[in-house]
Amino acid sequence: MLKLQNVSKQFDRKVVLDDINVEIKTGEIVSLLGPSGSGKTTLLNIILGLTQLDHGRIIFNDMDLSNVSMKNRGFNIVFQDYALFPHLSAYENIIYGLRNKKGLVSETELQEYIDFLELKPHLAKKIGELSGGQKQRVALARTLVMKPKILLLDEPLSALDGVIKESIKQRIQSIAREYKLTTIIVTHDPEEALTLSDKILIINQGNISQFGTPQEIINQPNNDFVKEFILKQL
Ligand code: ADP
Repeated sequence: MLKLQNVSKQFDRKVVLDDINVEIKTGEIVSLLGPSGSGKTTLLNIILGLTQLDHGRIIFNDMDLSNVSMKNRGFNIVFQDYALFPHLSAYENIIYGLRNKKGLVSETELQEYIDFLELKPHLAKKIGELSGGQKQRVALARTLVMKPKILLLDEPLSALDGVIKESIKQRIQSIAREYKLTTIIVTHDPEEALTLSDKILIINQGNISQFGTPQEIINQPNNDFVKEFILKQL
């Protein structure tokens, strides 16, 4: 269980997150959804430990991680642009993070992740030789082999279209189910959030507009902002 308690953040005296309180259960897929500039990425970075919060606490399985460094938190992120190393092969990218972590995954487990993401035929290829969907799968594999306690994804579908988008969406869902891995996703796209997530946290100008299941949000929108932001997509 991940609890965000009274999480607040200002940049240059501008309130970017205003007293965010939310509880995320183990294994849930939660989308952070809102318009550009609403504070989604800042919240993701605060959970990751990349950005320090001003007030509040990040509690994971009853441990206060607010002052624990990003490295020691054990949450891992796939960035929007994947941040893969172009001069390395797909395989070298996947194992890159393991170079100082001997014993974290066995050879069998490593092969399981590779099989799960259907990357075997692509392991020797350089990143430039891969399609968008294949790059995303390499980025997911590279993150999963680190055995993250929470998986964070920043706009994982925004660079993909059509069939590939659908297949990565299903892939993310099966990762969360298979590994019982809490997955937190930043997206600006209501349709993505509604079809991908167990719960959606709708953020508007640093405040929670609503936190609920896709069904609850569609059937019982809390306020006009949620209504307009969601309904315009339906
Ligand atoms: P979103 O991900 O919803 O687009 P962000 O969390 O990136 O929103 O940004 C929320 C607000 O915080 C924006 O007004 C943005 O300009 C501001 N902001 C984000 N990061 C910084 C930073 N490092 N320094 C100053 N302002 C920032």
